[in-house]
Amino acid sequence: MITEKLQKAINDQITAELWSSHLYLSMSFYMEKEGFAGMASWLKKQSEEEKDHACEMASYLVKRGGTAVVDKIDVVPTEFGTPLEVFTQVYEHECRVSKMIDDLTDVASAERDKATQDFLWGFVREQVEEEATASGIVEVLKKAGEAGIYYIDDKLGARK
Ligand code: MG
Repeated sequence: MITEKLQKAINDQITAELWSSHLYLSMSFYMEKEGFAGMASWLKKQSEEEKDHACEMASYLVKRGGTAVVDKIDVVPTEFGTPLEVFTQVYEHECRVSKMIDDLTDVASAERDKATQDFLWGFVREQVEEEATASGIVEVLKKAGEAGIYYIDDKLGARK
């Protein structure tokens, strides 16, 4: 059985993952309008991945005898600027998520819940990849000229 405090902290993270999912979906719609179909597709997949994270956490909570909640999700921005600005915001957001996962792991540790700590290490590792991927895209966008942006758009559109 999971403690009340840890259950609340995981439910807060579920809300944060769903907010992230909405943020990336909003970025996807924006990029589609801006004519970057590949980046829009990449961001839509990123949005789906965030929803998967929320579902994974919910299943874990239920398995531990807790209750998973879909809470109110705050509105997300709708304007994001140039492709470089969009992916810089993706990178910055992933850094904030990493901090949230770290804090959540600290709560699990304070509650002396080993199973939850073990569960969360998967997300700690995932964040290393998320930050590296986003920062990699920011770097290539910085180096790309006007024509290069469309080449990158094509590349990102190939994400499975
Ligand atoms: Mg996530």
